[in-house]
Amino acid sequence: MARQNLLPRTAPFGDGERASLDAVLGSATPVQRAWLAGFLAGLDAAGGQPAAAPAALPKAAEPLTIVYASESGNSEALAGNVAKLARKQGFKPKVVDFSDLDVASLPKAGKLIAIAATWGEGEPPARAVRAYGELMGEGAPRIDGVDFAVLALGDTSYVEFCAIGKALDARFEALGGKRAAERADLDLDFEKPAADWIKNTLKALAPAETPDNVVAVDFARAAPGEDDDAEPSREPLVVEVVEHVNLNSSRSDKETIHLALAFEDGAPAYEPGDSLEIFPENDPQLVDEILTAAGLSGDEALRKALLAERDITTLSTATIERFVKATGHADAQKLIDGGEARAWIEGRHLIDLLATFPATLTADHLTTITRPLPPRAYSIASSRKEVGDEVHLAIVAVRYETHGRARSGVASVHVADRIRDGAKLRVRLKPNRHFRLPQDPATDIIMVGPGTGVAPFRAFVQERRAIEAPGRSWLFFGDRHFLHDFLYQLEWQEALEDGSLTKIDVAFSRDQPEKIYVQNRITHNAQELVSWLEGGAHFYVCGDAKNMAKDVRAAVVRAYEIARSLSPADAEAQVAALERSHRYQQDVY
Ligand code: NAP
Repeated sequence: MARQNLLPRTAPFGDGERASLDAVLGSATPVQRAWLAGFLAGLDAAGGQPAAAPAALPKAAEPLTIVYASESGNSEALAGNVAKLARKQGFKPKVVDFSDLDVASLPKAGKLIAIAATWGEGEPPARAVRAYGELMGEGAPRIDGVDFAVLALGDTSYVEFCAIGKALDARFEALGGKRAAERADLDLDFEKPAADWIKNTLKALAPAETPDNVVAVDFARAAPGEDDDAEPSREPLVVEVVEHVNLNSSRSDKETIHLALAFEDGAPAYEPGDSLEIFPENDPQLVDEILTAAGLSGDEALRKALLAERDITTLSTATIERFVKATGHADAQKLIDGGEARAWIEGRHLIDLLATFPATLTADHLTTITRPLPPRAYSIASSRKEVGDEVHLAIVAVRYETHGRARSGVASVHVADRIRDGAKLRVRLKPNRHFRLPQDPATDIIMVGPGTGVAPFRAFVQERRAIEAPGRSWLFFGDRHFLHDFLYQLEWQEALEDGSLTKIDVAFSRDQPEKIYVQNRITHNAQELVSWLEGGAHFYVCGDAKNMAKDVRAAVVRAYEIARSLSPADAEAQVAALERSHRYQQDVY
């Protein structure tokens, strides 16, 4: 039998040494290799001296299950970080998306870390709904003997902050699990506290008796996302705006900006389905109002920080508590004591707090009261195969009025009002591997994207045109008016002509007295839609999470009922099966 060459030519050994090592290692059993790995690590730890007692066989690595419930990818990324660090510390980590979680397997988890995002008004991320429901339901198994810890992610601008993480933490305990570390509830600036929590929690979960010179060895391959080299840079990149066009007509009551951004040193390697984060700047007029209300006008350094670094709109109960702590304001204190703070913040921003409860603040107070300004993510509307080193986005300007004051979306109105061709923006790629075209370009795709939800489907169609994908594609688009709000209308017509789009169905909600939405088009086309799905088509939804995505899902269930005369329960099972096989994917906000 030919001898195996295990060591690469680049290994720091001479040819003869390499051959000798290959001779030994090539015929060694896994246990012998593990022993050697443990022995050498122990030797290093002991400063190069052989340990007094012969090194024991390495301990089998401690299994650790890391489950995550992620919508925008943050919990998933943190789960990858936990696994990476855990592996280095001798655990054998297994990372499981809630969408793939078999709840019945949890009693065997041994050690369990759950990282869970809360979405909208206290809901689990869409992909986590099934397993979360099972875990909370009566049939959930006992998990006696399981050591668990929960990391909760949320956004303090929502009242039900970290509700899902809190519920999981309580549920694991109620099912008999043992809390190994206290839960952390983290806001959008979670990176540093999450890193600290992970470090401390792994310490708490580590088996106490591991002697220093015994190395636990896990020969399993690193899970996806754990490979250091594969991680995209977290540093923002500066890009130039090369196109800034309003996609709505001048008579529309909406303003959707098509933005083309050019990367000087090459666009990051993005895929259709990914998002791009924009680091926005606050409205200078609002910054000045806040400075005046706080008695801090004229502080130029603070003005600069408030423009680009602090979140000066979000108002949470935590903001009021920090304000009261800083100022001792008695009336604001009453809001908290009387339990009215939750209701009072509804529709209000920081400026309302400062205007209603006047107080003279210091620059430090304002910094403590506010949180760092988070970036905003937008689904990428282009394919690199068609636009090269550019990224295109479609961003709707958010403007509304509450409590007699005009309000605007921080990033969207920054882009709409204060950015023009030639301007610079700071951005960062946010990959989304759960919103991907099918691997096989011959697979059919169905895309549902009303409003700005259509953005990733422009990327999908560009990509499939560039690779000459033979699969069919069907787009459902909706907006207010055909004449004024048909985003990328000419491009869809061209795509229909060149075959990169097979079919389009549109729903303009305000062109007639009754509302017509994309889901009406779905049920109207039930037979054909179901036959595409039965033929293997993948189904994608992008846009509003609160109502649209749920209504569309219900419409697909209904389509099965109509097309196949199924009961509601059997039709629901068809859609659940699509979700489980990752053929029903959502990118919703
Ligand atoms: P939109 O104006 O909210 O809606 C587009 C179309 O969907 C309209 O015709 C609307 O009809 C219809 N619609 C309303 N409710 C529906 C439902 N339950 N099911 C199906 N269709 C429904 O869309 P948009 O322009 O994309 O704005 C959506 C929101 O997304 C904005 O408020 C913004 O805050 C947020 N957002 C946007 C971006 C981005 O710009 N890329 C990113 C993140 C978040 P009617 O209005 O006539 O009822």
